[in-house]
Amino acid sequence: MLCPPCSQSMYTADIGSCKECGSFTSSGAFKLCRLCSNRLDQCEHCRCNLTKAAEEERLKQLDPSRKFKFLVSINFDHYRKTEQKSSHTSREKMLKENREFAAQFQSEFKAWLRKKRLVRKVQVLSELPNLGMIVVYCTKDVAEKVKKAPGVASISGFFDKSA
Ligand SMILES: [Zn+2]
Ligand SMILES: [Zn+2]
Repeated sequence: MLCPPCSQSMYTADIGSCKECGSFTSSGAFKLCRLCSNRLDQCEHCRCNLTKAAEEERLKQLDPSRKFKFLVSINFDHYRKTEQKSSHTSREKMLKENREFAAQFQSEFKAWLRKKRLVRKVQVLSELPNLGMIVVYCTKDVAEKVKKAPGVASISGFFDKSA
């Protein structure tokens, strides 16, 4: 698969070799074969993450005046300090940690909204600490801003509030 920007371009009809498995690619310009592209969820040409690229494309096409629900994923590594990065953490401990980080994120996020004067523009609908996510309701332009808030990993899943 090609990501939306790469699918706009034309590519040579020759054959290349896949950087992952060495088998044939659909064009000499491609880095991945179709199978590896699917397996890794990466664009055959630029190797960007396909799911993320598709979400970004969808975000671009949303009606700018309408509000949607967005899933804001928390970047736990933003809170997990180096000394906590031990590989021996139990699942229990990790979940507990994640809930703490989520609580930290939520208060910081609300402070950030106040600082950026976005409090009235962003409605926090629900908080899903175990999933490391919060659901917000706003326009796509505001969602683009929210993407830059500290501790945000990504924004995805845009749907109408009724859905
Ligand atoms: Zn391959
Ligand atoms: Zn691409």
